[in-house]
Amino acid sequence: MSNTFPFVRPRRLRQNDRIRGLVRETHLNVEQLIYPVFIAEGISEPREISSMPGIMQWPLEMIGREAQRIAELGIPGLLLFGIPNEKDEVGSQAYAEHGVIQEAIQRIKAASPETLVITDVCLCEYTSHGHCGVLHNGNVQNDETLDLLSEMALSHVAAGADIVAPSDMMDGRVGALRHALDEHGYQQTPIMAYSVKYASGFYGPFREAAGSAPQFGDRRAYQMDPANVREALRELEQDIAEGADMVMVKPALSYLDVIRQVRDHCDLPLAAYNVSGEYSMVKAAAQLGWIDEQRIVMEMLTSIRRAGADIIITYFAPEVAQWLKG
Ligand SMILES: [Zn+2]
Repeated sequence: MSNTFPFVRPRRLRQNDRIRGLVRETHLNVEQLIYPVFIAEGISEPREISSMPGIMQWPLEMIGREAQRIAELGIPGLLLFGIPNEKDEVGSQAYAEHGVIQEAIQRIKAASPETLVITDVCLCEYTSHGHCGVLHNGNVQNDETLDLLSEMALSHVAAGADIVAPSDMMDGRVGALRHALDEHGYQQTPIMAYSVKYASGFYGPFREAAGSAPQFGDRRAYQMDPANVREALRELEQDIAEGADMVMVKPALSYLDVIRQVRDHCDLPLAAYNVSGEYSMVKAAAQLGWIDEQRIVMEMLTSIRRAGADIIITYFAPEVAQWLKG
């Protein structure tokens, strides 16, 4: 009988800030945030993405300064996405020596050497058809695409990238990248695998940001069905077996149960991608005065951490870094 009311009163530990802080189970730290950035060729001024207020496409000339600004906020790393001037059937600019990302990496490393540079490895921003791999008769060819992704990852690391993050969802890409990197002397470069990436409507604003909407069809033949979680664990095991150093679940907020299952299923560091649609919905509601933006964002990111993510990739990173400083 003693373990119930009135002897037990959970409100005792909610009385004030200091007690609440003492018993808080989940913390949000700036060291665990990654900020995605878009770099576009052929622009000279930052261009705001209309569906993502506050998020820019950056010209190459300015990305070094932006990297410094983010580093000064205490955010350890950037996840880079490139928007090339020219696209073709096989995404040549994705693995060109002087492609937009290869140039951006060098500029970021020169301006802010301590910034962790993580690169997205996928062809969709570079292909004329907007799909994540090479096409034959309208179908994405898995194994041919692996060779191009490996070339892409190698070119990023050669330019100075610290971590590569394959997001294409081809089968066998983690192993292909690991082999290619090791063969070229990059045994120390970690792979952050987008292990569990769903075909999600929450990517909508990103497609404007990265100019990467498929010209026909959709990505359901390679990205995962939002209804599946057992399949997520199979994808996860495969990536671990192929040598992933870190794994990812994307998107985050509608997939907190998936984050939890992945967390319980493996010991690797786990990242969650708080994607563009999740950002835009909050910004839109905040602009209308319908929500308290800071409070909602902190609650959402805390929920991602509570679900089990170690690392959060989020467009809110700079604002959160400032809020955490208080
Ligand atoms: Zn892609």
